[in-house]
Amino acid sequence: MSNRINLKSLSRDKIFNFIEARGLPRYRADQLLNWIYERYASSLEEITEFSKDLRTRLGEIAYIGNLAVVDRQRSSDGTEKFLFGLEDGQTIESVLIPDKDRLTLCISSQVGCAMGCSFCLTGKSGLLRNLRAWEILDQVLSVNRLIKPKKITNIVLMGMGEPMANFEEVVDALKRIVLFIGISKRKITLSTAGLAPKIIELPKAAPDINLAISLNATTDAVRDRLMPINRKYPIRILIDALRRYPLKPMRKITIEYVLIAGVNDSVEDARRLVRLLKGIRCKVNLIPLNPHEGSALQRPSDVSVFAFQKVLTDNKMTALIRESKGQDILAACGQLRGSYEGKQ
Ligand code: SAH
Ligand code: SF4
Repeated sequence: MSNRINLKSLSRDKIFNFIEARGLPRYRADQLLNWIYERYASSLEEITEFSKDLRTRLGEIAYIGNLAVVDRQRSSDGTEKFLFGLEDGQTIESVLIPDKDRLTLCISSQVGCAMGCSFCLTGKSGLLRNLRAWEILDQVLSVNRLIKPKKITNIVLMGMGEPMANFEEVVDALKRIVLFIGISKRKITLSTAGLAPKIIELPKAAPDINLAISLNATTDAVRDRLMPINRKYPIRILIDALRRYPLKPMRKITIEYVLIAGVNDSVEDARRLVRLLKGIRCKVNLIPLNPHEGSALQRPSDVSVFAFQKVLTDNKMTALIRESKGQDILAACGQLRGSYEGKQ
């Protein structure tokens, strides 16, 4: 397949160019887009609207690439985890989280992650490679195909990888998720460890998507230790970038704060957090740490989690405690490593 064009790697314009360059009428491009993005065709052979001749002709120069579904596991709480194989043999994970009338897919943006946050399993193996735009959006197509006639309603970029470190491909994927798969921008959330210049660039490249920041500490000393990226973009710079993020009315920035016993969970931390976030339209998600092997960090007691939350709510902030789902299948926040060994 190496020399042929993967049709899923083409933008809308390029699909039209591709069809026109073959001397075909433009409606063939619309048909192609419809079959790939709405009917989830995984090969040209499935496109029965094309004659056998046309399929063969196109098949000589192009193909429809697909992530391979290597494994699918279901948690007792209804969360499902998908392990996908890429064309070069690497693997990534996506997590499907049903909640009332919502079906949220947590997708990956990289194989591994270079950020090396001390509490996160994905960071342990380092960065293996960036995902291409089509590999990012095909997580959505593949899961939609598997759960037909249901459809994913919300997307969070909170799986493996740091989306801002793979900016171009992520932006390209988001554009096509909105345009072709029809998920609206306000139902898409990008989470970042805090690459400040990219936070400033994002609204120009992909306007109106929701932003989440993994803050996780209130002093540079602690954040430097937990999240090495802080040495490059310290808290002050990060908060400044947040203040500049354009928000539509009623929208808020999500602040993610992983609570780690004895590290960042004190009442003083909570008070500092209130001061840091003053004037920023935001909501805080408190995520008690999901521990994993190979790390001594621990989850705080419920008492300290509630005490932390109370300081925030007493100061009129929105602060929810988020138990991440799918822990029994290693699908929770920070537990993705995209490998079989993960199955214990
Ligand atoms: N790289 C991006 C997106 C992926 S991580 C980012 O860091 O924002 C998604 C979320 O999982 C982040 O908010 C991160 O702080 C959180 N997380 C990582 N490891 C965790 C763990 N062990 N327990 C709970 N949450 C964790
Ligand atoms: Fe990477 Fe996010 Fe994990 Fe940090 S928390 S290592 S940025 S995936």
